[in-house]
Amino acid sequence: MLRVPERTCVCCRKKNAKSGLLRIVVPEDTPIFDRFKKMQGRGYYLCPDKKCVGNFMDEKKINKFLKRKITALPAWRELLKTEVGASCTQ
Ligand SMILES: [Zn+2]
Repeated sequence: MLRVPERTCVCCRKKNAKSGLLRIVVPEDTPIFDRFKKMQGRGYYLCPDKKCVGNFMDEKKINKFLKRKITALPAWRELLKTEVGASCTQ
């Protein structure tokens, strides 16, 4: 059987198939989605789940999870809503 690559959600620490998680990279302190999971740099994985995504909407929490100060937060929130709205089926 083929082993499915797994990653840990930065938020809830649950393991999940890499393909089922959102990948985020943070160049220049502004988070962006890495849709094809191929971008350079440190990637963070996040469940497309209300709770984890909700934590990433919160300025204090996102700074804690990504261990840095995030800028352009309103733009990021919009991006998150669009992205999760598209990929989250609940
Ligand atoms: Zn999670």
